[in-house]
Amino acid sequence: MFETQRLEYLRNRINLKNLASHLGIQMKVKDNQCWFVCPKCLKLKASFQINQNLARCWKCNTRYNSIELVMAHFNINFRQAVMFLIDQERQFPEKGYPCLGHHLSLSLTPQYIMK
Ligand SMILES: [Zn+2]
Repeated sequence: MFETQRLEYLRNRINLKNLASHLGIQMKVKDNQCWFVCPKCLKLKASFQINQNLARCWKCNTRYNSIELVMAHFNINFRQAVMFLIDQERQFPEKGYPCLGHHLSLSLTPQYIMK
């Protein structure tokens, strides 16, 4: 099982915007807000709540923390998402990516996620 501290770190300390960028989720700045494509309903209607390190889709009303975003993005379970984040942790940049209109081309599907 995963340690509580570890989970808290993954949930709270991994910057959600960096993570979304890292996953290659499409983002766009509009009206001074950074929007991203909701992994669930696929609409560009989700935005970040930076202070809380959470995100929310205003279309389907789904809320995301870092673990939930990974779960939804890859359609994987909690455990797989945590493993993914632990695996990827070192690759996250210290400073944030800017909100990019295009995604970074990274191939991020580790073997254990493949079905
Ligand atoms: Zn949505």
